[in-house]
Amino acid sequence: MEKPILGIHHVTAIASDPQRNVDFYTELLGLRLVKRTVNFDDPGTYHLYFGDDTGTPGTILTFFPWPGAARGTPGVGQVTVTSFSVPERSLDYWEQRLRSARVPAERSGKRFDETVLTFADPDGLKLEMVAHAGADGSRVRGTGIPEEHAIRGFYAVTLSEQGFEATADLLRTMGFRDVAEQGNRFRFEVGDGGSGARVDVLCVPEAPHGRVLVGTVHHVAWRVADDESQAAWREKLLEIRPNVTPVIDRCYFHSVYFREPGGVLFELATDPPGFAIDEPVDSLGESLKLPSWLEPHRKEIEEVLPPLQLHRLLEAQKSGGPSPQSTR
Ligand code: ZN
Repeated sequence: MEKPILGIHHVTAIASDPQRNVDFYTELLGLRLVKRTVNFDDPGTYHLYFGDDTGTPGTILTFFPWPGAARGTPGVGQVTVTSFSVPERSLDYWEQRLRSARVPAERSGKRFDETVLTFADPDGLKLEMVAHAGADGSRVRGTGIPEEHAIRGFYAVTLSEQGFEATADLLRTMGFRDVAEQGNRFRFEVGDGGSGARVDVLCVPEAPHGRVLVGTVHHVAWRVADDESQAAWREKLLEIRPNVTPVIDRCYFHSVYFREPGGVLFELATDPPGFAIDEPVDSLGESLKLPSWLEPHRKEIEEVLPPLQLHRLLEAQKSGGPSPQSTR
């Protein structure tokens, strides 16, 4: 018997320059680089994982940085917005912090009972800070950001869809419940619901299909408790989605992938074993980690990967070099 899906596990997007990606998510947004590894399916490129200080499922935003690749097109069949959860009174702080780093940020008004700040990362990936009452009780994490304003993990993801019913039916099969709607936005929750366990389906019948490249989301992964629950979900989903993959070992979690009817790539990822499986929590993200089957090729891999420096802007500031603002 399958256990309930618990919420968002991670979101994976495509970036261009890896150093700029690290600078933005660690130094501006205050997330921690919790794993520096390679794309297991393309080991000449990085796979960078950002999250809270241990990489708790539900806080993990990951990137495949492809230097020099073209910008993608956000559109139908994609996760078009990734939203972070922040405490109710934090939007002024974030608006000011983003603007002082010359990142345009816009208040998009009230949505349901939350207030929203919209912005984009240096590659054009669309992000939101969603301020809401429930965020105050969550675990406080983050580095370099005052505790009362730190990102609390994901709030939700938004899927853009041409149709609505087929995607809604699949979500319901996965245990999601219809909880709210506003205009063309349909909100679903799974597991215990709330922040990190919700998805908004935006019905945009006239919008063009997106193209997944730099600045777009590659896939969203949903949390399953363990391997047994994942196997049960896989069996159940195979009855309606013949494209479900076998279980793939991603080292830090185990994964199956399938496309939902609207075209968005979904993954089911296990909570265990987590990011401390191959390095101590204290030094997560500091050195390049490779899965056992790629370890024999470490030298060749390290030669092709561009160098990556943590705390680059902070150290430049300390030594009287360029401020974060002037390097952007
Ligand atoms: Zn994934």
